[in-house]
Amino acid sequence: MDCIFCKIANKEIPSNLIYEDEKVVAFYDLSPQAPVHFLVIPKKHYSSLNDIDSKEAFADIFSVIPKIAEKLGIKDYRTVVNTGESAGQSVFHIHVHVMAGREFKWPAG
Ligand code: 5GP
Ligand code: ZN
Repeated sequence: MDCIFCKIANKEIPSNLIYEDEKVVAFYDLSPQAPVHFLVIPKKHYSSLNDIDSKEAFADIFSVIPKIAEKLGIKDYRTVVNTGESAGQSVFHIHVHVMAGREFKWPAG
């Protein structure tokens, strides 16, 4: 499958890896939108949040975020999951954006 995030997860293309376990990898975003901006992805390919088929997959992805944040010394952060093209999704392998180091407005717009 020609998926850039599968290739990152399989180490076929390089990334600035922050975290890895059996199920998940996290790496810095190529075009950061905040002083700290990384992505958390499952190693298994799911196109979007709509394709996730188990509670375990959600847990695998989200449970690592506080651990990584602690490791990076981040207390406040924003998580974003763009789902679908009109919602801003451009890579169709589910990923959670984690951003920190600046103020975030709400509503997000
Ligand atoms: P989306 O728009 O799908 O929510 O977010 C995709 C994100 O992936 C974007 O923030 C983009 O900068 C990032 N991205 C796209 N290709 C690569 C890549 O090859 N390496 C890394 N590290 N980030 C990427
Ligand atoms: Zn993929």
